[in-house]
Amino acid sequence: MSLTFKRYLSLLVDKPPARPGDGINVTWLGNAGVHVTDGITGFLIDPFVSRYGMLRVALGLGMPPMQDVIAKWAATFDPALVGAVIASHSHYDHALDAPFFARLFDAPLVGTESTANIGRGARLSDDFIKVVGHADTMEIGAFKITFLESVHGPALFNRVPYPGVITSPLVSPAGARGYRMGGVFGIVIQHPAGTLVHHGSAGYDRDMYAGHHADVVLLGIAGRAGTSTYLKNVVDALGARTVIPIHFDNMFHPVSTSFRFMPAVHFDEFLDVCLQTRPNMNVSTLPVGRPVGLLINGSLNPP
Ligand SMILES: [Zn+2]
Repeated sequence: MSLTFKRYLSLLVDKPPARPGDGINVTWLGNAGVHVTDGITGFLIDPFVSRYGMLRVALGLGMPPMQDVIAKWAATFDPALVGAVIASHSHYDHALDAPFFARLFDAPLVGTESTANIGRGARLSDDFIKVVGHADTMEIGAFKITFLESVHGPALFNRVPYPGVITSPLVSPAGARGYRMGGVFGIVIQHPAGTLVHHGSAGYDRDMYAGHHADVVLLGIAGRAGTSTYLKNVVDALGARTVIPIHFDNMFHPVSTSFRFMPAVHFDEFLDVCLQTRPNMNVSTLPVGRPVGLLINGSLNPP
């Protein structure tokens, strides 16, 4: 086991899920995928389990959603606790599987017009597609979700991969370049127990979080430019006491509790910068595939 993986393990939030109505529980599906629930209702963001190797992705070969893997993951969630499937943007590692999860749960697929076209290509009916834009909100039980326009991280050789929008229904199997980015959202999730932000891609729009506060930020760290400026513009801007990195497991391998790290994700550097420059900030990690109690009355469980 690598020292880096040991550091990841040493930071795990390892509290049992809160009882229904008592707090917010989160399950990490690897990459930027999370299930968020208060035990009464809930939703998925960016569930992505159809993992293909880097070569296949780079060659642009078709990537059919792995229906058996999707079904296996879907079976781990109570259908009553999946009221929506949200895509933070339309790249394949965020949105390839989303419509298929949505169908299994009879839940709406929520995202940009590009995400909607992935849903239409998967033959979701319009009743099960909800297009959202900047500053739009939706309510799911006690959750109030606000979508804020963000910017994609520089990711590949300082370039955003597959920019642009998806203008017509995207029928699978499609290659990675079919999954154009569309817009990118930072997602503010307010709940009486506390506020969580899902920031799935490592860019930001200056002042995008002005007027917003979060207790915990789920921070996508793949493809970030500078760790310190990223923390400043997202985590500090939100006044969050806790940051939980996501999107650092190797997305070219199957989802696993013993994952490898994403190439060039520099997980140690991320932790070192957090510890050295923000000694009062809490840095925690999530286990894969196991729900943990995250927020009770605005505090990480435990504080
Ligand atoms: Zn992306």
